[in-house]
Amino acid sequence: MNDPLELQFRSWRRNDRRAPHKPLLVLLALARLSHGQRWISWKQVHEELGMLLSTFCHDPSPKPHYPFIRLQTDGIWSLRNSEGLVYTASGDASLKSLNALNPEGGLTDEFIAACSALGSPNWAFLRMKEVLELEFPPSLHDEILSALNVEEAFSSVQIKKRARSAEFRQQGLDIYNGQCAICGFSGRLKGGLVGVEAAHIKWFAYGGPDEIRNGLALCSLHHKLFDLGAIGLSDELRVMISPSFSGERTRAMVLDYEGKEIFIPRQRSVVTDPEPAFIRWQRTEVYQDWGR
Ligand SMILES: [Zn+2]
Repeated sequence: MNDPLELQFRSWRRNDRRAPHKPLLVLLALARLSHGQRWISWKQVHEELGMLLSTFCHDPSPKPHYPFIRLQTDGIWSLRNSEGLVYTASGDASLKSLNALNPEGGLTDEFIAACSALGSPNWAFLRMKEVLELEFPPSLHDEILSALNVEEAFSSVQIKKRARSAEFRQQGLDIYNGQCAICGFSGRLKGGLVGVEAAHIKWFAYGGPDEIRNGLALCSLHHKLFDLGAIGLSDELRVMISPSFSGERTRAMVLDYEGKEIFIPRQRSVVTDPEPAFIRWQRTEVYQDWGR
């Protein structure tokens, strides 16, 4: 049987535009459930989902009230104490009435029963892992778990990872000579490469292929910033830094690369240039092209 959650995820997307609102609410609900909390108030969702959305979604305005209401139509989420909510023409609840009533939302009995019938005591974590795999690149999983305050509990549970293409990783790193395409970092410990990773430009979760033209070798820092949308690339393959990015001692490691062309190895036998469509996907769906 196809996984009902996976099918729902596909239906939440229009083409390959990112739609992280519902997945992040499901993750939040599962994380709370793993702490024994079934119902979450609108005020908690507003604050916690709002934070998650502002970090892990490129949309300048987080809109946590959208999934809080709309997830109900998927049959896995229900509200209580919601009588009296005022709805807008688009079917969303008005923020004013949500704030006044502060209803609670939670995963439905049916969804919880179906998940717990899987037999694993760690079903909430297993579900979270699935949601992460379906929606986000691996470079962000720990970041999201930590934001949900479940990183420690989660890591104590043995969860099988999806097999990634070892060839993609190795080929990518070899072609790039083990060097970050942005900063050129190529650290080695006893000859073994450390802190350099093969990054997908268009996320695997969104159908980005395991191909060299969808890959870049990036150091751990630039990989994370690229997947979080703090870094993007222009069509001319020049580094773009999000106006939202700031911090102490960031000049040498990040800001100084703005406008610089990335390093692309040229080989006669293989076309290595990143595919423009993948660069554009990252720029429109991930890169945070706005200031705070
Ligand atoms: Zn780097």
